[in-house]
Amino acid sequence: MSPVSATPEPAVARAATAPQIALRGLRKTFGRVVAVDSVDLEIADGEFFAMLGPSGSGKTTVLRMIAGFERPTSGSVILGGVDQTAVPAFRRDVSTVFQDYALFPHMTAGQNVAYGLKVRGVGGAERARRVAEALEMVRLGDLGARKPGELSGGQRQRVALARALVTRPKVLLLDEPLGALDLKLREQMQLELKSIQREVGITFLFVTHDQDEALTLCDRLAVFNAGRTEQVGTPGEVYEYPATPFVAGFVGSANVIPAALAEQLVGKRGTFAIRPEKIRVLGAGAKAASARASVGEHQLTGTVGEVVYSGPTTRIVIDGPIDASGSRLQLSATVLNADAPGTSALRRGDPIAIAWHDSALRPLDTAAPAPQPAPS
Ligand code: ADP
Ligand code: MG
Repeated sequence: MSPVSATPEPAVARAATAPQIALRGLRKTFGRVVAVDSVDLEIADGEFFAMLGPSGSGKTTVLRMIAGFERPTSGSVILGGVDQTAVPAFRRDVSTVFQDYALFPHMTAGQNVAYGLKVRGVGGAERARRVAEALEMVRLGDLGARKPGELSGGQRQRVALARALVTRPKVLLLDEPLGALDLKLREQMQLELKSIQREVGITFLFVTHDQDEALTLCDRLAVFNAGRTEQVGTPGEVYEYPATPFVAGFVGSANVIPAALAEQLVGKRGTFAIRPEKIRVLGAGAKAASARASVGEHQLTGTVGEVVYSGPTTRIVIDGPIDASGSRLQLSATVLNADAPGTSALRRGDPIAIAWHDSALRPLDTAAPAPQPAPS
């Protein structure tokens, strides 16, 4: 297989038609706060696309500009090939599921779901049929008569989803929709969301700060940092070929070999990332000194800092060399316990020899631009 970074292939075949969502030079400032800074994105029809980033990185603001709740400071929002930057929210073919669900507490689940059809003038019989269909889709068939207060968190979340889907939008925007659910329920809802998206076939734009959730769910994702997208790609592309130190550290965990040590350790200039599972233990204790890496590998001898057992894997922290500025390089290696039964015998301070293949090194772009301050 050729490296995905060289020939990125979209997960969803792009039709010759316009993208379902196109953002061009999108920017939003609140006073002096730059919430979103020159975001360019294209999302295809039927794609499950995630916006992933830490709290405050501008994800919700992008979503609100797509929905029409927020007017961009500059740039444009193009939906289905038509510039809708100045079109009010209610005229856009877009539905939103909010993190807090925003259900009407005095209405039943069924009435909540029916609301959007009612304001669009869909008549009684047709309305009842579509509400039943939407409740069925989210597996709430029997609970239409209950009010939100009589439903669990997961069930309220389903009502919000049914309410957003019942109007058959072209695009569904989801802002951290699973954020309030506990882990087990969350994992279950992730699977259901994926299957619902496959069923309805519309574009899902999903916001999350949880990297596992983004990688599990989406066809492609954009990684946000300080109002900008640092990388856009499939989960495999972003995980295997992180573009910047931020992406390498936010999506999965990464060892970063700083420029100050790169020549010495890997024989080339630059800053490099290496995933912990790509590091292999050659030998520890008495065997460390005689260990030899294979052809094409880089070898490093250090000492064991920490050994963290976690069931299927063990994470070993290795204390490496000190760079010119006096800071010590620490590398993490994640080893499968099934492959390396000896790791439980490792002790802090033991000498340890590790190796990684040159092809596992990922050059990082350390010159990512900082956000430009808003004019005062
Ligand atoms: P995220 O959804 O990624 O957590 P947001 O889009 O909510 O990020 O926020 C991005 C930045 O914009 C944050 O610094 C936030 O405080 C700021 N911000 C968002 N909305 C407003 C607002 N209405 N007024 C002032 N600042 C805002
Ligand atoms: Mg948000």
